[in-house]
Amino acid sequence: AKRAGGAGWALFDQAMGADARAQIELQEDLRAALQRDELLLHYQPKVDAGNGQIRSLEALVRWQHPRHGLLGPGQFIPVAERFGLINALGGWVIREACRQLGVWSRQGLRLRVSVNLSVHQVRQGHVVEQIEAALREHGVSADQLTCEITESVAMEDTAATQAMLAGLARAGVKLSIDDFGTGYSSLSYLCKLRPQELKIDRSFVQDLETSADARAVVDAIIHLARALRLTVVAEGVETRDQAEVLLALGCDELQGFFFARPMSVQALVAGGLLTSDG
Ligand code: C2E
Ligand code: CA
Ligand code: CA
Ligand code: CA
Repeated sequence: AKRAGGAGWALFDQAMGADARAQIELQEDLRAALQRDELLLHYQPKVDAGNGQIRSLEALVRWQHPRHGLLGPGQFIPVAERFGLINALGGWVIREACRQLGVWSRQGLRLRVSVNLSVHQVRQGHVVEQIEAALREHGVSADQLTCEITESVAMEDTAATQAMLAGLARAGVKLSIDDFGTGYSSLSYLCKLRPQELKIDRSFVQDLETSADARAVVDAIIHLARALRLTVVAEGVETRDQAEVLLALGCDELQGFFFARPMSVQALVAGGLLTSDG
């Protein structure tokens, strides 16, 4: 079956489809990539809605594949999850983000970085140890790191997930609930979880200008975040109109192509997006 979504999905379909050889090949390539430094992180700023400053960035993994070119996470995270490579890949992301935070610290840049955790990382027990080791190795303080997990994973009421989230909190690492509004959140559970941040899913942001319902949902999420004293971030902001509506509704931070695409550290520097004042 062919899916919509452009060239990006072709490789994924091939990997998960009838051609098992291609899937195994990609998996072998990924194993090698983890050894050979072919993975990299792009960073997408979260912009302070009040003053336009950038204080935090989301790390998004990329793979510079020797034959297929630069691949996005949709093209290889599913393969990593299927072949048991996601913990190694996730560990690499955590170490690389901490290494970069260490570099920025030494340059006098006070920035925070978010990393995305897959459900498999959350369910296995080692992610908190991986994070603590990486923070120690690069001399980074825990409050500079945020872990983004999707709403559906966050709401998983299992011992492993709960232990992991408690461990993160003990370590002083911040928790952000990604794609908020798309899953089923119990509000009492949200209080118990005590995340520091909610990220409003892109689907609501997209419909802000055309749908009164989307606007009502965004307004409700912002009020909820206020009441619980959480930072609220809107993702997928693509237009000035969306940004203005979000600002008027009281959103704290904005993220999306309208402000900046995910980019390499060199591109962030070249674009003047990282300054020691901001
Ligand atoms: P996400 O965490 O929801 O990340 C946001 C995605 O939306 C990113 O795609 C980003 O490039 C894209 N985006 C940002 N602003 C806009 C916008 O204004 N418009 C539109 N249309 N898109 C925007 P990307 O980098 O392809 O990542 C896709 C997903 O892959 C992420 O969704 C996240 O779930 C996952 N992912 C990325 N990096 C990692 C990682 O290191 N580990 C794990 N486990 N998952 C990752
Ligand atoms: Ca995210
Ligand atoms: Ca998201
Ligand atoms: Ca999303």
